[in-house]
Amino acid sequence: AKKNGRAGWRLFTPALREASDRRRRLEADLERAAERNELRVAYQPIVRLSDGALSGMEALVRWQHPELGLLYPDVFISIAEEIGRIGEVDRWVMQEGLRQFERWEAEMGREIDLTLSVNCSARDLHEPRFAERVRGIVGAEPRRAERLTLEITESLLVDDPQRAAAVLHELRRDGLRFSMDDFGTGYSSLSVIHALPVDTVKVDRAFVQRMHEDASALAMVNNVVGFAHTLGKDIVAEGIETPEHLVALREMGCEYGQGYLFGKPLAPDVMSTLVRADVPS
Ligand code: C2E
Ligand code: CA
Ligand code: CA
Ligand code: CA
Repeated sequence: AKKNGRAGWRLFTPALREASDRRRRLEADLERAAERNELRVAYQPIVRLSDGALSGMEALVRWQHPELGLLYPDVFISIAEEIGRIGEVDRWVMQEGLRQFERWEAEMGREIDLTLSVNCSARDLHEPRFAERVRGIVGAEPRRAERLTLEITESLLVDDPQRAAAVLHELRRDGLRFSMDDFGTGYSSLSVIHALPVDTVKVDRAFVQRMHEDASALAMVNNVVGFAHTLGKDIVAEGIETPEHLVALREMGCEYGQGYLFGKPLAPDVMSTLVRADVPS
């Protein structure tokens, strides 16, 4: 805002006006983005750190806006949450990711032995019919449930941890897995993870990327890996960009990793090459 004489802070500067117009426009367009077929999924490799083998992939949503071009989640996920559309977006990504795996399987003529991780907004679990809706997507096909990992965040647990735990347990019985995303950025402790049916813990990339400049970040990652192992959980380290990151994490015994060193989020046709190269273990 600009200082405007006696009137004090003037709220509607042209820049602010423009930002609020843009936001209102994104809200309106987002209502129709799914039905207009404008959402896309990018797939980022998740690899086993011991040998670099592809272990799975994370589905990351993109919005191909007809006028504004390709939009990244940081500009529209929070809007989708506020206008109550995030559940739809997340379910679309889940459905599309599962279909993509099935298209690859049909093309290759064999089963794919990789995991598909999709992000779940904390808002999703507050929907009364969340478990039912996920089941509706997964259907009666056990392979669909078994390949799916839902990435959840700690903030989900703040409001109603008991209900969240009940929903996770329910879906787990169908074969779904859960991963605690962005670990270290929220409030909860490892004891919360202990109480939940979470199979993996994803260490936030902020810690991984500070490991070599900041002794406390290194200690944090090391402790998370140690505690997670004590609890029988696997670790996925996010944001691995350099060979130094990889070496340090491997030495700590971290099982899996994700980051630009292995691959950026890829369009399905590019990811397809990696999927084809993967030999079933
Ligand atoms: P996230 O779940 O932590 O996803 C990882 C983000 O880190 C992705 O950003 C990815 O492109 C980026 N990344 C991966 N490797 C590296 C690296 O080596 N270096 C750096 N600097 N960045 C890396 P993206 O795709 O922009 O997604 C941002 C966030 O948006 C995600 O963070 C997730 O919280 C949210 N998001 C993405 N897709 C969905 C979705 O379908 N539903 C929901 N609810 N949220 C989503
Ligand atoms: Ca994630
Ligand atoms: Ca994350
Ligand atoms: Ca394999």
